[in-house]
Amino acid sequence: MNCDKCKENAIYQDPNLCKKHFIEYFEQKTINTIKKFGMIKNKQEKICVAASGGKDSVALLFVLHKKGFNVEALAIDEGIKGYRDRSLEFLQEFCKKHKINLKIKSYKKEIGKTIDQLSKKYSPACNVCGTFRRYLLDQHSKEYKKIATGHNLDDEAQAVMMNILKAQTSLFARQGPMTKDIDGFTQKIKPFYFIKEKEIMTYAFLLGLNIDFEECPYAPLSFRSYVRDWINKEEKENQGTKLNIVTHYLKLREDMQDNIQKIETKENKFSKVVKDALQPIKKCHECGSPCSGLICKACKLKEEINA
Ligand SMILES: [Zn+2]
Ligand SMILES: [Zn+2]
Repeated sequence: MNCDKCKENAIYQDPNLCKKHFIEYFEQKTINTIKKFGMIKNKQEKICVAASGGKDSVALLFVLHKKGFNVEALAIDEGIKGYRDRSLEFLQEFCKKHKINLKIKSYKKEIGKTIDQLSKKYSPACNVCGTFRRYLLDQHSKEYKKIATGHNLDDEAQAVMMNILKAQTSLFARQGPMTKDIDGFTQKIKPFYFIKEKEIMTYAFLLGLNIDFEECPYAPLSFRSYVRDWINKEEKENQGTKLNIVTHYLKLREDMQDNIQKIETKENKFSKVVKDALQPIKKCHECGSPCSGLICKACKLKEEINA
């Protein structure tokens, strides 16, 4: 099959593109997303990239750096033997080679325990892990106005469906390609919002970013992996499913954002569990992270595990 743009052989299908044109397409799609949502307004602005050493965040660091954005990397070491230690080693080399500033913060040092230790008490470990990850990213990105994550179209389609399946209406209303600009909080942006995981893998492979494609050993136990497999099956049968989920979501989102107060009041009547998550964003009294009550989930958990 030929490339849609030239006579070369296509190395990617739908769209059919040769190596050169695929790379162009991938980078342009990222830039278009940044422009569409006004994620980064000028290239001097210092952007913190949440980097794990996996393909998504390394590809994101690479594209932003290549396109002249002012990036620094922040990595979290959860303490997963045979998995994170390897990807962080790669990240360190990568950042050194491209002269990107890198900070690494570990659960062991900041929380007191690694996720390998915590997984014995909390299973699946993903919820606890996600809470601490957000917490540490938050704590250590305060000096930046924006933090970029490698979330891709697959991740976002999964998140939409997960919130629907769990009836988490207000979390549903709050997700999306970027968070609001609220004083005192670092804004979160997702430049890969419309990019498929498969596209990231192809891009990383073509550019010789020798990344381990291995999955976190704890991931197969999570609700997300169930939703992921299900959406992947759908996408195989009906191409465009992932994009449909996300575009449909974005159409609803505008109205939901205007009515977020109303949605939250209504949801309060239905679910006590989600109630905490629905309060307007405040600052945790312990750590200053975004929080709905007095003390954030991470700080409560920290106390619990160190008790
Ligand atoms: Zn071509
Ligand atoms: Zn806190």
